[in-house]
Amino acid sequence: MIKLENVHKSFGDHEVLKGVHAEIDKGQVVCLIGPSGSGKSTLLRCINGLETYQAGRISIDDETVDVTAPSIHDLRTRVSMVFQRFNLFPHRTAIENVMEGPRYVLKQGKAEVREKAERLLTRVGLADKLNSYPAALSGGQQQRVAIARALAMEPEAILFDEPTSALDPEMVGEVLQVMRALAEEHMTMLVVTHEILFAREVADRVLFLDGGRIVEEGAADEVLRQPKNERTQDFLRRVT
Ligand code: ATP
Ligand code: MG
Repeated sequence: MIKLENVHKSFGDHEVLKGVHAEIDKGQVVCLIGPSGSGKSTLLRCINGLETYQAGRISIDDETVDVTAPSIHDLRTRVSMVFQRFNLFPHRTAIENVMEGPRYVLKQGKAEVREKAERLLTRVGLADKLNSYPAALSGGQQQRVAIARALAMEPEAILFDEPTSALDPEMVGEVLQVMRALAEEHMTMLVVTHEILFAREVADRVLFLDGGRIVEEGAADEVLRQPKNERTQDFLRRVT
């Protein structure tokens, strides 16, 4: 459902993506790994139309992601994104953060949206934090609010950009648990992560991005246990 064909992306004369090919099928969990600066965040931002790309094609269910086209607003609501640093509105409570998108972007009714937000916050284990402000929540709790907020848009896919790397170690597990549950429900997910154990356990496929290209991809077990590419081997030695 998400397809990248020969995608090129530069910042000025710095080419970051040098012809990326990738496909994420509906219901699949794909982990994207690779060294710092290899373009993982840029790739996610291009898929979600937060960045333009110069050549190639990105499509969602065969609809081209084109930042200059009117359809981009609709495409952005179909694919949610969860960031490393939760990006919650600080002056809104947990439930207000979750309600924001459905209310003002999807224009859904208040009562319906409140009910949905309560249900989603309950699902991520925060039924008792509906009216807490982000500053009163732990990092793990804030990230779970961010996931509930992403789900509130009823997206066809969710892109995660290192969702646990800004968290204290004791909070990583609770966020991964929520993601694991989503995977079990066959949410389509593209996850940038350094959590190799999580990737091994949850991902259907793993992509390794290096030097602007996907240099290795395959079943999680294959790529993570027996990488063929020397760069992948090197990278895995360093992060595990
Ligand atoms: P990390 O693991 O550290 O998050 P990454 O793989 O996500 O790294 P990106 O953030 O996508 O890497 O950055 C890829 C390259 O693009 C880097 O060299 C970075 O400096 C450059 N870059 C990213 N965003 C911009 C920007 N807005 N303007 C100019 N250069 C940028
Ligand atoms: Mg990044």
